[in-house]
Order: sequence, then C-alpha cells, then structure tokens
Amino acid sequence: MRKRNVVIHTEREIAGIREACAATAHVRDELCASVRPGISTRQIDDLARGLIAQVGGTSAFLGYRGFPGQICISLNDEVVHGIGRADRVIQCGDLVSLDVGVKLNGFIGDTARTVAVPPPSSPVAASLMHATQESLEAGIAAACGGCYVNDISRAVERVILDAGFTAVRDFVGHGCGCALHEPPEVPNFAQRDRGPKLRAGMVLAIEPMVNAGGHQVRVEEDGWTVRTADHSLSAHFEHMVLITNGKPEILTCPKTA
Ligand code: MG
Repeated sequence: MRKRNVVIHTEREIAGIREACAATAHVRDELCASVRPGISTRQIDDLARGLIAQVGGTSAFLGYRGFPGQICISLNDEVVHGIGRADRVIQCGDLVSLDVGVKLNGFIGDTARTVAVPPPSSPVAASLMHATQESLEAGIAAACGGCYVNDISRAVERVILDAGFTAVRDFVGHGCGCALHEPPEVPNFAQRDRGPKLRAGMVLAIEPMVNAGGHQVRVEEDGWTVRTADHSLSAHFEHMVLITNGKPEILTCPKTA
C-alpha cells in the first residue's frame, strides 16, 4: 500500500522481502570472503552471478537503467556503482565496496559492505570504515516506529561528522522491497524537514556513503562509476530494515541456524 510518500508492505510482502534479504546477505558475505589480492573485479562479478543463481535469484542491478554488472564493485576513491572489469585487479591495501542486490520471487534485497584488503593502506582507511559502519548502526538504532526519516538522517550524519568525515549528498538510502527504489528517500545528512513518519511495515535501505575528504562526487566516463571529486577514500555500508512498532528488524543479516 502506498501511503502518500511511503510504502507500507503487507505481511505476505514482508515474508517475501525477508527471504530475499537473507539470500542477499548470504551472497554479500560469500563475496566479501572472496576479496583478495590478484582477483579482478570482473571475477568477483562472475562469482556474484553464480552465487545469486545458487540462491535461486537474479541480480536486481543487472539491466537496471542499463547497469551492465551483476553487482557494484567500487574501489578506494570510488563511492558506488563501479562495474566489474577484467583489467581492474585488487591490490593489497585496497578498500573494496561491494553492493549486492538480489531479486527473489519478485522481492528485492539490497545490501553493501566495504572490506579492506590487508595490509591497511592508511589509518584513515580503517577509521573511515569503522565510522561508516558505526553511522549505519546509529541510523538503524534511530529507525523506530513513530520516529521520522530525519531522525535516521541526523543519527547517521552525527557519527560521520564526529569522526571528521563527510556524507555523500548526491546518493541516498531509500525504501525497498517490491521495487529496488521505493519512497521515501533516506538521506545520510540532516534535512530541514523531519520527513515521513516511520510506520510498521515500511522497509528501508539505510546506506551511508562516507568520504574521507569532501562530500562532492563525480560520475566517470563509463556513465556509472561514482568517484570522490577530491580522490579521497570512500566507504559504503548498507542494511535493509523492517520498521516495526518498536526497534527495527535488520533483514540483511546472515541467516542464523
Ligand atoms: Mg541501496
């Protein structure tokens, strides 16, 4: 049900989204474990194709507005939407952001994580990753029924600014579940307006994209890869959460046995 500028999912939809998210989390975790020096981003994309097929799904990104990859793989100063390439080989010290979207039985899971290939290239890389993950956790903690979207935005931004970093402004989190992008938008920086009220049945993809330098980004000539304008490092963590009457349920955690 679309209620003004939000989507409230039915119980049946929530069950489907829950399954899609668990499958997506599994694919994400397997891919993160595959990241090592010497592997190309195209090889990671090929692995993603196999893993997504194994869970019975299809890529939610492939063909979306013409995107050519199974997943998005963004290195170092690349923020989001990087495309797997055979000539792009992972090196020691790289920051590798993997953004995975899986469509399963008509429902969508969307999740991202940045992993560092040891040894760390700089102390900044480690603290950037830490702060980005913490900002996601703060955003999730603020995503309680009865609160507002801007409570999430403010909580995410506070952690980022306290750590001395900046939140990307040109790309934001979003509702998700039956389509990849549903209303509302979930910015990673505070708004003047408090935004829509969080109601049970909403499903949000909260996804801070955090730059070590300025917030400005540029799109590369390939039309997809988003890079920091000042070539500073960037990190990206994303979970989908189900809004309830109390604390949110994180949907993109791995299944527990
Ligand atoms: Mg997303």
